[in-house]
Amino acid sequence: MKIGILGGGQLGFMTILRGTYMGLEFNVLDKSFDISASKTGAKIFTFENYKQFYNESDIITFEFEHIPLEIVEYVKDKLRPSFEVFYLKQERIREKDFLKKNNFPVAKFYKADNGNQAIEIIKENNFIPCVIKTSRLGYDGKGQFYIKSFEDLKEVENLNEKLIIEEFIDFQMEISTIVARNEKDIKVFPISENFHKDGILIYNITPANISEKLKRKVEEIAIELSKAMNLIGILAIEFFVYNDDVLINEIAPRPHNTGHWTLDGCITSQFEQFLRAILNIPLGETQLIKPTLMINLIDIQKPKLEEILKIKNAYFYWYFKERKTRRKMGHINILLDNIEEYKEIINCFKIFR
Ligand code: AMP
Repeated sequence: MKIGILGGGQLGFMTILRGTYMGLEFNVLDKSFDISASKTGAKIFTFENYKQFYNESDIITFEFEHIPLEIVEYVKDKLRPSFEVFYLKQERIREKDFLKKNNFPVAKFYKADNGNQAIEIIKENNFIPCVIKTSRLGYDGKGQFYIKSFEDLKEVENLNEKLIIEEFIDFQMEISTIVARNEKDIKVFPISENFHKDGILIYNITPANISEKLKRKVEEIAIELSKAMNLIGILAIEFFVYNDDVLINEIAPRPHNTGHWTLDGCITSQFEQFLRAILNIPLGETQLIKPTLMINLIDIQKPKLEEILKIKNAYFYWYFKERKTRRKMGHINILLDNIEEYKEIINCFKIFR
């Protein structure tokens, strides 16, 4: 079985490493050969060779949303999750509209065609504080503007693209889960608590310290959402906990950074589950092995292995990417005997941020 992956970043890289153990083979389509997946046994194709990539793959999936739509359309009969799911996720506006239309809880939002229109809407509705996000190409805090006063609106004046204007949520915490679904099965992963800085995930801890009631609600939303999307694959869902209830912030129908902890902390990893889901074979169990801390290594040189692995139950992952400001270069998972240990460990890791 040859699986084609659109995108060859770290999510594809880790999927391929796991899948290779399972006897699967991979093709990857990306802009260039200089990607994490080039360190695996996958055959790499660049965008211009997408027809050959299609012909040589039995099924096709994606690990990244920013792939030219013409290519995704061309491969759509082999695509899992479906073209519709990809299309939904390619623009924030489509994603938010879908969630709202299907009665999933989201923060109040407006849509605008450009910066000036956004400014008018905000003034008319006195919608401050708010967060303005570009509908396309935003991730890890890119394309986001926090508007705390009318003064801040200057920042978006010149934006000439579709925007979404979201209510600023003064959340109690951020949490997430991953749901896997195929024609045979649905399984939800344990819930993580996520800590972001400037829109980028710094670390997460699983399980999240939330009530049983909220946990059930999150699981229920995850299952219902996977059904509403007719998902064959996995879906990461990020939530704000607000007024002791939840609002969906964002969804991603593929492996996700918030699920990296599953590589060591869970019976089945998100990467294996992703493959099982798109192959329509039985899903793995999702029990937690031990409380797990995942720390992103952002914008750093590769640390010395012995520095990391001297920590008890630490597991190190490196993505072979060129170092750039705010870029995720790798991560560490640490399995804990006692969940409270994470606070102390995080303090020691300040040097990596
Ligand atoms: P996003 O790329 O939309 O997931 O946003 C990245 C991070 O920015 C979130 O995880 C939050 O920490 C923060 N953020 C995004 N939208 C909002 C919002 N409407 N209110 C408050 N914080 C937000």
